[in-house]
Amino acid sequence: MTAAIYLARYHLRILVIEDGRSRAATIPLTRNHAGFPDGISGVDLLGRMRAQAELYGVAFRHGCASALVKDTDGFSVALDGERISARTILLATGVVNRRPAMNMALHDEAVANGQIRYCPVCDAYEITDKSVAVIGTGDQGVEEAVFLRSYTDDVTLVSPNADHRLTADHVERLNRFGIRILTGPVERFELGKNFITVSHAEGRSTFASIYPALGSDIRSELTTDLDLGRTAAGCLKVDSHQRTDIHGLYAAGDVVLGLDQMSHAMGQAAVAATAIRNDLSETTALLRRRAVGRPSGPR
Ligand SMILES: Cc1cc2nc3c(=O)[nH]c(=O)nc-3n(C[C@H](O)[C@H](O)[C@H](O)COP(=O)(O)OP(=O)(O)OC[C@H]3O[C@@H](n4cnc5c(N)ncnc54)[C@H](O)[C@@H]3O)c2cc1C
Repeated sequence: MTAAIYLARYHLRILVIEDGRSRAATIPLTRNHAGFPDGISGVDLLGRMRAQAELYGVAFRHGCASALVKDTDGFSVALDGERISARTILLATGVVNRRPAMNMALHDEAVANGQIRYCPVCDAYEITDKSVAVIGTGDQGVEEAVFLRSYTDDVTLVSPNADHRLTADHVERLNRFGIRILTGPVERFELGKNFITVSHAEGRSTFASIYPALGSDIRSELTTDLDLGRTAAGCLKVDSHQRTDIHGLYAAGDVVLGLDQMSHAMGQAAVAATAIRNDLSETTALLRRRAVGRPSGPR
């Protein structure tokens, strides 16, 4: 959305395709996003950004793009049986957090209430001095539990399955930080007014919040057939201007390895949009068309 606003204000014709699975849309109330001292929900923020983009003529299509093909003039995208052509593509397709095995409606309710949280960088401040559990194990689970330990001394690491994948070093570290270790499987979740109860192999425990640390799936599937650099996890590799290895294809946000924060995604989007504008102006008559005169300002 940030890139769309920038690009439209560079007098480029922009189509945003989205299938409504933005992680940002699930944020109940962000309190670390600069400029909103009282916080703002993800839905409100996205609504404001969309209104701003539409002011400058950005078009939107709802649906899941199913293929991305590089052709001689640029790219074509398959959407609902249609082929959409574009000179340039910016992939800002994000990631999907792996969820604990639980009823989806209950899960979404818990996320909306802050009883399940996915982003310690974003909202661990809100669990200061509260009891918190991390569902996870191995390096990822241990790192997240240790991160949270600087907010509260009541941290528990519970394995999602019947066994933990903890080395002696992991256990020593968890003990040193006073982090409790519980064994799963994590099976049953119940929501209270300000708490969440979970059943595991050793009984039932109640926490103010639970952080699943189960990893995420990178939404880079559109590039599977393209010869692109990517990390082992599937994050797209880009240069300092957000260019991928394929000319005309850019990437920004969580789909690129980074902090997985909105401010970071927005910064990358601004860089990508400006690179797109500059790269296009090198290869097209963009500057000449501007000189002929197109309307400026909102349209
Ligand atoms: C519960 C929660 C709370 C969070 N709290 C904060 C916070 O307080 N502060 C903060 O900075 N960050 C927070 N984050 C992280 C933040 O949401 C992400 O860093 C941010 O949304 C990344 O933006 P993005 O554009 O890369 O990806 P997303 O916001 O996930 O957007 C990706 C978009 O791509 C679309 N898409 C993907 N593939 C396709 C396809 N094939 N066809 C069509 N559309 C497609 C999706 O529909 C979606 O619209 C939170 C995340 C979660 C889950």
